[in-house]
Amino acid sequence: MLKRCSCGGDMSLMLRTVIFAKKVNINNVPVYNCSFCGRNDVFPGVKEDVGKLVGKLGNQPAPGSIPFDQVHEWAGVLSKASNLSDPLQASVITRTAEERVNQLLDLLLIATSLQDEEWKKELHSRLSQLSGHNVS
Ligand SMILES: [Zn+2]
Repeated sequence: MLKRCSCGGDMSLMLRTVIFAKKVNINNVPVYNCSFCGRNDVFPGVKEDVGKLVGKLGNQPAPGSIPFDQVHEWAGVLSKASNLSDPLQASVITRTAEERVNQLLDLLLIATSLQDEEWKKELHSRLSQLSGHNVS
């Protein structure tokens, strides 16, 4: 779970609270953190969605906190994996992600049999949040 920082130090993946506009706590955002120089990089796979979330909050957000692990499937997987392994291990993340995909596919079968188009759309977008995030 390591990445090289521009300072030459090792960056490790962790879940952090990002504070937006000094008012809104966005909890459990996957971030690469450098223990050497303290630099934080939002995990590339969720960067765009964090940006969208912040865009929706606007310039004058109401104070509060947002559990990002419930907004974004990938953050949810990392949050679950971090309860199972500390520090985060790629094998645990991969297994947790596979389990979540299977769970969503099961739900998709149910949604399809119920012909619930709204639910199907929601499940498809959750599945797409998980695709393409290989960490190994
Ligand atoms: Zn650094």
